[in-house]
Amino acid sequence: MSKVHNFSAGPAILPQSAIDASVEALQNFSGTGLSLIEVSHRSKEYEAVVNEATQLVKDILHLGDDYAVIFLQGGASLQFDMIPMNFLSPGKTAAYVNTGVWAGRAIKEAKMFGEVNVLASSEEKNFNYIPKDYTIPSDAAYYHCTSNNTIYGTEMFEFPESPVPMICDMSSDIFSRPFDATKFDMIYAGAQKNMGPAGTTLVIIKNSFLEKANAKVPTMLNYKIHVENGSMYNTPSVFAIFVCMHTLRWIKSIGLEAMEIRNKGKADMLYAEIDRNHLFVGTVAKEDRSRMNVNFVLNDKSQEEAFLKFCKERNLSGLKGHRSVGGLRASLYNALELESVAALVQAMQDFEKSTSIN
Ligand SMILES: *Cc1c(COP(=O)(O)O)cnc(C)c1O
Repeated sequence: MSKVHNFSAGPAILPQSAIDASVEALQNFSGTGLSLIEVSHRSKEYEAVVNEATQLVKDILHLGDDYAVIFLQGGASLQFDMIPMNFLSPGKTAAYVNTGVWAGRAIKEAKMFGEVNVLASSEEKNFNYIPKDYTIPSDAAYYHCTSNNTIYGTEMFEFPESPVPMICDMSSDIFSRPFDATKFDMIYAGAQKNMGPAGTTLVIIKNSFLEKANAKVPTMLNYKIHVENGSMYNTPSVFAIFVCMHTLRWIKSIGLEAMEIRNKGKADMLYAEIDRNHLFVGTVAKEDRSRMNVNFVLNDKSQEEAFLKFCKERNLSGLKGHRSVGGLRASLYNALELESVAALVQAMQDFEKSTSIN
């Protein structure tokens, strides 16, 4: 079968080295003669996997011992609850920015545990830009933002100076570029966008922030418990963390500086074609265009189905926009190669030729 170019928004494309290592480990994990998914998570071979994955996150982001790294379950969505459960309480206020569906869900959950101050929202323009003009109150319990809005295709390239602990949902752009992770008290990311398969969520938390956590939190939702037990309070997502470890090895071998150049090259190539080709139009304010999720529409909406079919025939997969916004979305996560973007651009040009002939 010829190569399928995978533009899926998540679960999404992973490096071939991680897929190959996973296939092998399903047969024979770390020389045990057993499958990765049939050995104890307390075996020394598996403990080595969790330890290496944890250390790789710290190495890649240049984090020291003042941060804890854990792998949890429940997706990024459970973090929408765990954050206010651990750090908010009645009478306290948390500051959120509403930049889309995921940010909105985080706000909805936080309201169950305390007051929420929505500092800014781009909802009036269907979330097609990143609000920048707001002040973070210095008495907030924390400030929460979403670095990349997967559904709308907007990305925060700069983070504010926050007078209170800064928490960020980086599910869909973590490890796509260098950034100063030490500005954050907490970072979280569902694995399945840019780090691994579905089933685990990375949580990075500063020890000094963890100390401020509420005392009474149910055990499985309590960050302290998971940190104290090194992601092994209960059975972790064994397979997912293994794949993350191999993806993280690949990310580290490239480095975030080179990863950014690679990602910028891919995004620039696609946006240039969207802007040149009169059949297509980008949906996002130019300065906030995401390098991970490129959202665009056909000027003539009636051509959308035909274009998607045209793409499918060329082995271009996963280009349909999120069901809540429609249109087209090409996700260009770390592991996607430039040649895949080139193939999409070629399809857009061929489609343009085919429609101008008719
Ligand atoms: C996909 C996504 C989520 C939800 O992740 P789940 O793991 O499905 O809960 C949350 N935030 C962002 C930014 C996402 O892209």
